[in-house]
Amino acid sequence: MVEEKVKSIIDSLSNAASDDFIETICLSLAQAIKADFVFVAKLNQEHTTATTLSVASKGSVLDNFTYDLESTPCENVSDGAVCSLVENTQQAYPEDQLLVDMNIAGYVGVPLKNAKDETDSILVALYHQPFKNEKEVTSLFLLFSGMIKKEMEKQELIAELKTRNEIIEESKEAIVVCDKDKKITSVNKAFSRISGYSFKEVQGKNPSIFKSELNDRSLYVDMWRSIDDTGAWSGEIWNKKKSGEIFPEWLSINTICDENNEISHYIAFFFDISKRKASESKIYKQANYDLLTGVANRFLFSKETSLAINSSKSTQSAILHMDLDLFKEINDVYGHDFGDELLIQSSERLQSCVAESDCVARISGDGFAILLSNADSSEVIDNTVTCILMEFSKPFIIKQNILHCTLSIGITSFSNTNEDAGEIMKKAETAMYHAKDSGRNSYSYFTQEMQDKAHYRLNLKSQLTKAIKNKELSVVYQPVVSIAHEKTTKFEALVRWNNQGKWTSPVEFIPLAEEYSLIKEIGEFVLSEACRTLKKLKSQGFSDIVFNVNRSVYEIPLNKNENDQWLLMIELHGLQPSDICFELTESALAPDKRNNEVLFNQLRSAGCTIALDDFGTGYSSLSYLRRIPIDYIKIDRSFITDMSTNQNDNILVSTIIAMSKALGKKVVAEGVETKEHLQLLTELGCDYIQGYYFSKPLPEEKLVSFLNDFSYGSFN
Ligand code: C2E
Ligand code: CA
Ligand code: CA
Repeated sequence: MVEEKVKSIIDSLSNAASDDFIETICLSLAQAIKADFVFVAKLNQEHTTATTLSVASKGSVLDNFTYDLESTPCENVSDGAVCSLVENTQQAYPEDQLLVDMNIAGYVGVPLKNAKDETDSILVALYHQPFKNEKEVTSLFLLFSGMIKKEMEKQELIAELKTRNEIIEESKEAIVVCDKDKKITSVNKAFSRISGYSFKEVQGKNPSIFKSELNDRSLYVDMWRSIDDTGAWSGEIWNKKKSGEIFPEWLSINTICDENNEISHYIAFFFDISKRKASESKIYKQANYDLLTGVANRFLFSKETSLAINSSKSTQSAILHMDLDLFKEINDVYGHDFGDELLIQSSERLQSCVAESDCVARISGDGFAILLSNADSSEVIDNTVTCILMEFSKPFIIKQNILHCTLSIGITSFSNTNEDAGEIMKKAETAMYHAKDSGRNSYSYFTQEMQDKAHYRLNLKSQLTKAIKNKELSVVYQPVVSIAHEKTTKFEALVRWNNQGKWTSPVEFIPLAEEYSLIKEIGEFVLSEACRTLKKLKSQGFSDIVFNVNRSVYEIPLNKNENDQWLLMIELHGLQPSDICFELTESALAPDKRNNEVLFNQLRSAGCTIALDDFGTGYSSLSYLRRIPIDYIKIDRSFITDMSTNQNDNILVSTIIAMSKALGKKVVAEGVETKEHLQLLTELGCDYIQGYYFSKPLPEEKLVSFLNDFSYGSFN
């Protein structure tokens, strides 16, 4: 009888598909033992609830449900005991509402135990009526419990393997599995996507088919040593795709061992890091290289210099600091695109003069630097400098323009030094300024004297700042004599600085003030002093006198809204704009970001006059002369000084005078020191004379007596 039942259950199972095994066994068990319900339920971790996996009743499968185990017959089963109640189950478990709801009289439950002998699920039969054959039912249950458990475990394993496989298959990382002979046994989707190979194409092959020539041989040696020693390796490697494309990947290799601790498989995980590497290298490029010219930037240059300092114990290195002469002017005249192209071509010329291992950098707008890391003989430096000067003696061709642009080079060499990169670079820069000062298109080696000079200038700057604050500057006035009127009609206001008992020349401190943005304050002071003095002079009866006031190009406001400040100052002192003539040098006329042209027109239409100072020392002056409105041209003192002895200067002065007349400008000769000068200039038709011959610059209190005593005839 029992045998038949067992046989019918086994028959039904052999026809069932493996994934409805539990259903099938519940159905056939229910039929065999004539139970009203048979179910398999899984216990939760704490054994407080059970959830059915399959419930069979009267030949059909019901919906699964979850119930609490407390105070139910199943609670005992969950503890590992077989429980069987032929009748009165409800009375035995009065708190079990489910028994009431389902109208249960008989109960059989057996635990299903895993390999560790722990109960994790239960098999239960329920009867509406008291049941017979208790022994047969429980023994059938116990007989099949092992089979059910095995099947459940198998299914769990299959499910787990399935998810694992899915994880492997869907992983973003490429995965390659090899057997112990390093033959590929499986790959995932990501592998095919990244490498371009299908599984079929690589099956049984050695992963060396992905090798590229870009890796060092030592990389593979290290890799296998690490795998042999530790069972794993990871690192960056360049591999080859099916297409032949070489790409960087991050590769991790692990080994799997069998029960005898022998390697059975190798698993490799990798992902393509070309994007990451590209963005890393882009960031690196932006941080270390000049975007326009592609050479190193200041940051990288000082890093390289620091490295060279550290390794300069045995070798000598040198820094060349280069600055393009008149780059700013070229940029202003031809425009920024032109300037950019000039910088690009310049960097190419510099690179052509050095070895690949030397660092060329753009370290400022028009400043370049070169680090010669092997400058053991002065010949290396000399050759480089000669090459650079040669390269820059050739014309540049930019946008069909042929143009010459020279540069000034400052050089410093170092070995075994305690100085840092900044200090050494500063030395080369100081030497460069020295080269520029001593005539452009040349080079200078750094000397201690230059350092001293640089210190002196810095010192002077702080003294000047103090002097301005403490109002230690003063103004003197040099007469300007009209040849036609034979009298003094103007004075030029000139600033003076008595620096702690020592007169410092404006030739020295004005450029310094321009460089360190102190010039505006000086200019305002001089204009205000000149206006005050002139007002006083006028009130003493000298109503026709005009004062000339020097203004630096750096005083021209950048913003048009500030243009009226010069005129406001004149007005403030109760003077007319026509009482003041502004003296500007040629550099103030160059087209600039500043609004010079607008300003000059505004000043002139208000009534001021404008004099072009130091004429002949600047560059390309004629083109500006036409465009910018000026009233006077002042011939630079250097041409006057040698006029009587140097035939060339004589010709130049007479040409300037003739040209000025043709343009309708009045001419002033500066630095007239002798009677001979005066006579020559009078003959050439010069309009005004200024110089020691008539008078040195005078303090304010001497102006009235000078004017009263002046007699042109006594000089002639
Ligand atoms: P500058 O505007 O060309 O001024 C003329 C310079 O020549 C003055 O020198 C004057 O003293 C000097 N000088 C005049 N006649 C003779 C002469 O016969 N022989 C010689 N050897 N020198 C003569 P200073 O006062 O030393 O000024 C030098 C330069 O400093 C000025 O040249 C001007 O460029 C600048 N400067 C002076 N004062 C000011 C100022 O208030 N503002 C600005 N921006 N620059 C000023
Ligand atoms: Ca002047
Ligand atoms: Ca001058």
